[in-house]
Amino acid sequence: MASFNPALVPADHVSAHRYIHVVGSSVFVDDRPADDGWPVHFLGMLDDEACWGVDVPLGEDPSYGASTDLYSYYGRATEPEWVVAGRAVQLVEWGRTHRFCGRCGTPTESQQHERAMKCPSCGLLAFPRLAPAMITLVTRGEGDEQEALLARGVQFRIPMYSTLAGFVEPGESLEGAVIREVKEEVGINVRNVRYFGSQPWPFPHSLMVGFIAEWESGDIVCDPTEIVDAQWFRRDDLPPIPPPISISRRLIDHWLHGH
Ligand SMILES: [Zn+2]
Repeated sequence: MASFNPALVPADHVSAHRYIHVVGSSVFVDDRPADDGWPVHFLGMLDDEACWGVDVPLGEDPSYGASTDLYSYYGRATEPEWVVAGRAVQLVEWGRTHRFCGRCGTPTESQQHERAMKCPSCGLLAFPRLAPAMITLVTRGEGDEQEALLARGVQFRIPMYSTLAGFVEPGESLEGAVIREVKEEVGINVRNVRYFGSQPWPFPHSLMVGFIAEWESGDIVCDPTEIVDAQWFRRDDLPPIPPPISISRRLIDHWLHGH
């Protein structure tokens, strides 16, 4: 499978071009830009294919309705192609929302040598937004009797149970966020917080950082503003779980099938 490397400028050898047109927050991929006058952001190299994000102006649609939202695009593209599309949407949206300096209101200019918008008047730099969020599978007990805590969030559109997740606060460590969010959402205390893996999550600009933690004390008490229901589930008695797009599913699969 091809691998994607983010970059500021194309590599020396380019065999083809991939233009990811960002229509609203949906994508339409073509091997040429639909309009040479629209702003483009270089994204990086997918092997020796140069990838570009095209900022399609409001009201235009070069796909004639065939563009796909990122969530649906997953599964229709390879994992690296999906990651590139997510990067396109994030960088285009960042460009759209950082056209003026947040401090003095002067129009910004994109920087040559780093991914940043700079104010020519006061010098303020704006970098692409990335919001780290932690996601954690909490276990209780050992062996075949071991259970995992899964919860149904208030915003879930389908009735499934997932691992707990939440944004990291300024001034907080990832491990601290795990302990705080689990306590806030379901009222229990956890220990032994271990890193699992991470995943870009372009909805709209998160980085999901996965952890596994152990129950330490406390009974489940849900925060009704965030959680509809949370329960301990054994491996042989699981509820509906998230689709493969999410790191939550990877955490649950890892727990189900061991190492
Ligand atoms: Zn300024």
